[in-house]
Amino acid sequence: MRRTGVALTLIAATSLLFPEITIAIAREGAQARPAPATLPPPRPAKLPSPPVAPAAPNPVPQASVAPRSSPAPAVPATAPAKAGSCLSALAAISGNKLRAAPPSASLTAEGCRVVEPVIVEALAVRRPDGAGSIKLVPPPTLSCDMARALSAWFDSALVPLARGALDKELASLRVGGGHECRRRNRQAQTPMSEHATGRALDIFAFQLGEERQGRLEISVEKPQGLVQTRFLDAVRQSACGAFMTALGPGSDAAHANHLHVDIQQRRTNSSRFCQ
Ligand SMILES: [Zn+2]
Repeated sequence: MRRTGVALTLIAATSLLFPEITIAIAREGAQARPAPATLPPPRPAKLPSPPVAPAAPNPVPQASVAPRSSPAPAVPATAPAKAGSCLSALAAISGNKLRAAPPSASLTAEGCRVVEPVIVEALAVRRPDGAGSIKLVPPPTLSCDMARALSAWFDSALVPLARGALDKELASLRVGGGHECRRRNRQAQTPMSEHATGRALDIFAFQLGEERQGRLEISVEKPQGLVQTRFLDAVRQSACGAFMTALGPGSDAAHANHLHVDIQQRRTNSSRFCQ
């Protein structure tokens, strides 16, 4: 401020003495004057809300439940998520580990186009002691809306069911399927599989507890004892509400060893196919 004051005084004095010079000095001063303090970066259209308090009692999972304060590092700079996209919403949640799938012919083949394909490593859930996440092993390629449906199901159903039935925290799922450009049950004449569009996932086992204490694995094909069987029954019931289709052992030979869930639209929004 002091320097500015001195400069203005000089300009004023000069203008009295040499009016024709003053303009040049004033212009030069305007050009040379340092720009105002650097402006903050433009405010995003939608700022994330502050993180939710640990152990929130509300079981309804929302993308805004536990947003992160910085962009997700999992999203590579080469494929930034579009603002307002499913991926940008999911990537903004702390604990979600997913990224845009690299382009491939399979993702755009006829009958196999995947909308917003993502590779999902883990999805955020709430734990009694704060935020946590469920890993998907190996990470499947899914349409982003399928990842979102899984995220909601994990948080609202799977995690509480595991805790209630087995007194353990669900840690990971052993999965298969995800996106695969093929027909149903790998037959030549059947309609395209729900896996073709990345809107389906096959779950083979649930892994619970701490890794260092030895995880408990519950196989969908061969549960051990009544408690595990009941847990799997409850899981299938909840999957029937969360997805359009839930098929598991006992439905047909193709699903004897896993639970298939998908969000392929049926005749109506309320139609479900569960066996
Ligand atoms: Zn399947």
